[in-house]
Amino acid sequence: MKNPFETEDRAAFRKTLRDFVTREIRPHADAWDEAGAVPWELHAKVGALGVWGFGVDEAYGGLGFDDCFMRAAFSEEFARCGAGGVPAAINGRMISIDPIQRLASAEIKDRVLADIIAGRKGSSLAVTEPGGGSDVANIQTRARLDGNHWVLNGQKTFITGGMTSDYFVIPARTGGAGLEGISLFFVEADTPGFSRTELPRKMGWWCSDQATLYLDDCRVPASSMMGDEGRGFTAIMQNFNLERVALIAGMLGMMKVCLEDGIAWAQERQTFGKPLIRHQVIRHKIADMAARIEAVEAYLNQICWSVNEGDMPVAAISNCKVFTSKALEFCASEAMQIMGGAGYLRGNRIERVYREVKVMAIGGGSEEIMRDLAVRQMGL
Ligand SMILES: Cc1cc2nc3c(=O)[nH]c(=O)nc-3n(C[C@H](O)[C@H](O)[C@H](O)COP(=O)(O)OP(=O)(O)OC[C@H]3O[C@@H](n4cnc5c(N)ncnc54)[C@H](O)[C@@H]3O)c2cc1C
Repeated sequence: MKNPFETEDRAAFRKTLRDFVTREIRPHADAWDEAGAVPWELHAKVGALGVWGFGVDEAYGGLGFDDCFMRAAFSEEFARCGAGGVPAAINGRMISIDPIQRLASAEIKDRVLADIIAGRKGSSLAVTEPGGGSDVANIQTRARLDGNHWVLNGQKTFITGGMTSDYFVIPARTGGAGLEGISLFFVEADTPGFSRTELPRKMGWWCSDQATLYLDDCRVPASSMMGDEGRGFTAIMQNFNLERVALIAGMLGMMKVCLEDGIAWAQERQTFGKPLIRHQVIRHKIADMAARIEAVEAYLNQICWSVNEGDMPVAAISNCKVFTSKALEFCASEAMQIMGGAGYLRGNRIERVYREVKVMAIGGGSEEIMRDLAVRQMGL
């Protein structure tokens, strides 16, 4: 359908991204995923596209403007490479850039932000702990003030980019129980007391790294506190909104992969004397996938428009994330069904999308937590 929000700039940006993914990623995605890593040079190549500069001042290497539609286009187009591990590997930094540029000291921003945005250095946001990821207000990692340093103790886990990032945004408890006791810290990987181990053998996202981080008397300068003491929970919650928009857009890209590859296979494959696509049951699967894609696209466009208007539609984002992960689950299953046994073999995009549905339904706020948040936002 014609998109009422399309502009020349947005269309050109999307084309640049699509060409880049077709040229630089698609031919290598299978091999990188099987090898378990992307080449580090990819970070700088992607950085040169400007995709990490949204909402960041030009003085720090940013674009000096923001546009939610362009952010969404980035996530959607990169997901279309068909290997979720590729965007995860390069894009772990995305969810840490906004807190760094909004809340870190001028000294930290001057020193690190341009390198992160250009893809020369990696950064991650480390919220989840071994004791749980959904209940953010119950974070157990602690920070105590000792002279002009904060001393952090605790563990974080499932941290995307955890093995390769140089910089981390880490919430820790500086006060009592509950959400008002949480503050945010900027921690560098070479700080004494910081160590990490890789999470092995994941279901999907093979070419991205996830790590457990250990903070054992990890001393950071007092100026490493990001924003006000006790305001870390609010900062994390605000940050989740755009992360979730990106996840929705990524899932939309994955759904389009299912439809495209499903149609291509159905046109090629012959059963009972005619192409699969001529069988009504298969045609209905295609219609059902296409309808869900159009619904997600329209929902996402409306969300992006609201965000650009300065109104963060938290309930809609939460509901849309659940709606989209369910729609993706449907599309992955139907596309796999169209392919039959061939879909079950490694090396095709649908097989990988099918394995990578669950991380989208759990990461960045699970379906259960999203529904809960949406209803709370309705005042209930
Ligand atoms: C590949 C991958 C990458 C990740 N990257 C990062 C990262 O970069 N940074 C980071 O901080 N985290 C990251 N995560 C962690 C992710 O955000 C968490 O897995 C997620 O928030 C859920 O937390 P949990 O796994 O601890 O599940 P839990 O919180 O233990 O929940 C377990 C299950 O119970 C459900 N549940 C929990 N509470 C309730 C309730 N009140 N009512 C009903 N159901 C409930 C949840 O929805 C979930 O289904 C990543 C995870 C994965 C798998």
